[in-house]
Amino acid sequence: MVVQRTLSIIKPDATRRDLTGQINQRFEDAGLRIIAQKRIRLSREQAEAFYDVHKTRPFFNDLCTFMISGPIVVQVLEGENAVTENRDIMGATDPQDAREGTIRRDFAESIEANSVHGSDSEKTAELEVAFFFSKIELLQ
Ligand code: GDP
Repeated sequence: MVVQRTLSIIKPDATRRDLTGQINQRFEDAGLRIIAQKRIRLSREQAEAFYDVHKTRPFFNDLCTFMISGPIVVQVLEGENAVTENRDIMGATDPQDAREGTIRRDFAESIEANSVHGSDSEKTAELEVAFFFSKIELLQ
Protein backbone atom coordinates (compact mmCIF):
# COMPACT_ATOMS: atom_id res chain seq x y z
CA MET A 1 0.00 0.00 0.00
CA VAL A 2 1.27 3.41 -0.94
CA VAL A 3 -0.12 6.83 0.00
CA GLN A 4 -0.90 8.76 -3.17
CA ARG A 5 -2.54 12.00 -4.24
CA THR A 6 -5.00 12.30 -7.09
CA LEU A 7 -6.92 15.11 -8.79
CA SER A 8 -10.69 15.00 -8.56
CA ILE A 9 -13.20 17.33 -10.21
CA ILE A 10 -16.85 17.63 -9.26
CA LYS A 11 -18.33 18.57 -12.65
CA PRO A 12 -20.96 21.23 -13.49
CA ASP A 13 -23.90 18.78 -13.56
CA ALA A 14 -23.15 17.91 -9.91
CA THR A 15 -22.41 21.42 -8.61
CA ARG A 16 -25.68 22.59 -10.25
CA ARG A 17 -27.57 20.00 -8.17
CA ASP A 18 -25.59 20.81 -4.98
CA LEU A 19 -24.11 17.32 -4.75
CA THR A 20 -20.66 18.41 -3.54
CA GLY A 21 -21.32 17.41 0.08
CA GLN A 22 -22.73 14.00 -0.80
CA ILE A 23 -19.86 13.26 -3.20
CA ASN A 24 -17.25 14.41 -0.67
CA GLN A 25 -18.84 12.11 1.93
CA ARG A 26 -18.21 9.15 -0.40
CA PHE A 27 -14.51 10.03 -0.63
CA GLU A 28 -14.15 10.39 3.13
CA ASP A 29 -16.12 7.18 3.81
CA ALA A 30 -13.65 5.37 1.53
CA GLY A 31 -10.64 6.75 3.41
CA LEU A 32 -9.70 9.46 0.91
CA ARG A 33 -8.89 12.74 2.64
CA ILE A 34 -9.65 16.02 0.82
CA ILE A 35 -6.41 17.93 1.34
CA ALA A 36 -7.16 20.82 -1.04
CA GLN A 37 -10.35 22.07 -2.61
CA LYS A 38 -11.68 25.10 -4.50
CA ARG A 39 -14.77 26.04 -6.48
CA ILE A 40 -13.88 27.70 -9.77
CA ARG A 41 -15.27 28.37 -13.23
CA LEU A 42 -13.04 27.42 -16.15
CA SER A 43 -12.60 29.51 -19.28
CA ARG A 44 -12.84 27.64 -22.61
CA GLU A 45 -9.08 28.02 -23.02
CA GLN A 46 -8.45 26.42 -19.63
CA ALA A 47 -10.90 23.55 -20.31
CA GLU A 48 -9.25 22.89 -23.68
CA ALA A 49 -5.82 22.87 -22.05
CA PHE A 50 -6.93 20.48 -19.31
CA TYR A 51 -8.51 18.05 -21.82
CA ASP A 52 -5.73 18.42 -24.40
CA VAL A 53 -5.22 14.62 -24.49
CA HIS A 54 -8.77 14.32 -25.85
CA LYS A 55 -8.49 17.01 -28.52
CA THR A 56 -8.80 14.57 -31.43
CA ARG A 57 -11.84 12.79 -29.96
CA PRO A 58 -15.23 13.57 -31.53
CA PHE A 59 -16.72 14.68 -28.22
CA PHE A 60 -13.91 17.17 -27.39
CA ASN A 61 -15.87 20.38 -28.18
CA ASP A 62 -19.03 19.17 -26.43
CA LEU A 63 -16.98 18.12 -23.40
CA CYS A 64 -15.29 21.53 -23.13
CA THR A 65 -18.65 23.32 -23.55
CA PHE A 66 -20.08 21.17 -20.76
CA MET A 67 -17.10 21.76 -18.46
CA ILE A 68 -17.47 25.55 -18.72
CA SER A 69 -21.27 25.50 -18.36
CA GLY A 70 -21.09 26.09 -14.60
CA PRO A 71 -18.73 26.04 -11.64
CA ILE A 72 -16.61 23.00 -10.85
CA VAL A 73 -14.99 21.91 -7.60
CA VAL A 74 -11.35 20.88 -8.06
CA GLN A 75 -9.82 18.91 -5.25
CA VAL A 76 -6.85 16.82 -4.25
CA LEU A 77 -7.60 13.50 -2.57
CA GLU A 78 -4.98 11.70 -0.51
CA GLY A 79 -4.97 8.14 0.72
CA GLU A 80 -3.73 4.61 0.15
CA ASN A 81 -3.74 3.88 -3.58
CA ALA A 82 -5.75 7.08 -4.05
CA VAL A 83 -5.60 6.98 -7.87
CA THR A 84 -7.22 3.57 -8.31
CA GLU A 85 -9.32 3.88 -5.18
CA ASN A 86 -10.90 7.07 -6.55
CA ARG A 87 -11.49 5.51 -9.98
CA ASP A 88 -13.22 2.65 -8.19
CA ILE A 89 -15.50 4.98 -6.20
CA MET A 90 -16.29 7.02 -9.35
CA GLY A 91 -17.39 4.08 -11.49
CA ALA A 92 -17.24 3.62 -15.28
CA THR A 93 -17.35 6.62 -17.65
CA ASP A 94 -20.85 5.71 -18.87
CA PRO A 95 -23.19 5.62 -15.85
CA GLN A 96 -25.11 2.77 -17.50
CA ASP A 97 -21.98 0.62 -17.20
CA ALA A 98 -21.05 1.84 -13.72
CA ARG A 99 -21.19 -0.56 -10.80
CA GLU A 100 -23.94 -0.08 -8.23
CA GLY A 101 -22.99 2.22 -5.37
CA THR A 102 -20.53 4.25 -7.44
CA ILE A 103 -20.81 8.05 -7.78
CA ARG A 104 -21.50 7.92 -11.50
CA ARG A 105 -24.12 5.19 -11.18
CA ASP A 106 -25.93 7.13 -8.48
CA PHE A 107 -25.53 10.72 -9.68
CA ALA A 108 -24.43 11.00 -13.35
CA GLU A 109 -26.88 12.35 -15.92
CA SER A 110 -25.12 10.96 -19.04
CA ILE A 111 -21.81 9.67 -20.39
CA GLU A 112 -20.75 13.33 -20.72
CA ALA A 113 -22.37 14.87 -17.64
CA ASN A 114 -20.98 12.15 -15.42
CA SER A 115 -20.51 14.19 -12.24
CA VAL A 116 -16.82 13.55 -11.50
CA HIS A 117 -13.35 13.40 -13.01
CA GLY A 118 -10.46 11.44 -11.50
CA SER A 119 -6.85 11.12 -12.66
CA ASP A 120 -6.21 7.81 -14.40
CA SER A 121 -2.59 7.20 -13.34
CA GLU A 122 0.01 8.46 -10.86
CA LYS A 123 1.81 10.39 -13.59
CA THR A 124 -1.44 12.03 -14.79
CA ALA A 125 -2.34 12.81 -11.17
CA GLU A 126 0.92 14.70 -10.70
CA LEU A 127 0.33 16.78 -13.85
CA GLU A 128 -3.36 17.40 -13.10
CA VAL A 129 -2.76 18.43 -9.48
CA ALA A 130 -0.12 20.90 -10.69
CA PHE A 131 -2.55 22.22 -13.32
CA PHE A 132 -4.93 23.48 -10.64
CA PHE A 133 -2.93 23.88 -7.42
CA SER A 134 0.25 25.71 -6.56
CA LYS A 135 2.75 24.27 -4.07
CA ILE A 136 1.67 26.68 -1.34
CA GLU A 137 -1.93 25.38 -1.55
CA LEU A 138 -0.86 21.80 -0.92
CA LEU A 139 -0.02 20.29 2.45
CA GLN A 140 3.58 19.17 2.51
P1 GDP B 1 -12.99 9.09 -17.71
O1 GDP B 1 -11.52 8.88 -17.45
O2 GDP B 1 -13.85 7.99 -17.14
O3 GDP B 1 -13.49 10.46 -17.25
O4 GDP B 1 -13.24 9.02 -19.28
P2 GDP B 1 -12.42 9.58 -20.54
O5 GDP B 1 -11.06 10.06 -20.12
O6 GDP B 1 -12.50 8.56 -21.62
O7 GDP B 1 -13.29 10.83 -21.03
C1 GDP B 1 -13.20 12.09 -20.41
C2 GDP B 1 -14.58 12.66 -20.26
O8 GDP B 1 -15.13 12.90 -21.57
C3 GDP B 1 -15.61 11.73 -19.59
O9 GDP B 1 -15.56 11.74 -18.20
C4 GDP B 1 -16.91 12.32 -20.11
O10 GDP B 1 -17.30 13.51 -19.41
C5 GDP B 1 -16.54 12.68 -21.55
N1 GDP B 1 -16.85 11.59 -22.50
C6 GDP B 1 -16.24 10.38 -22.61
N2 GDP B 1 -16.77 9.64 -23.60
C7 GDP B 1 -17.73 10.43 -24.16
C8 GDP B 1 -18.63 10.24 -25.26
O11 GDP B 1 -18.65 9.21 -25.92
N3 GDP B 1 -19.47 11.29 -25.54
C9 GDP B 1 -19.46 12.46 -24.83
N4 GDP B 1 -20.33 13.44 -25.18
N5 GDP B 1 -18.62 12.66 -23.79
C10 GDP B 1 -17.78 11.67 -23.47
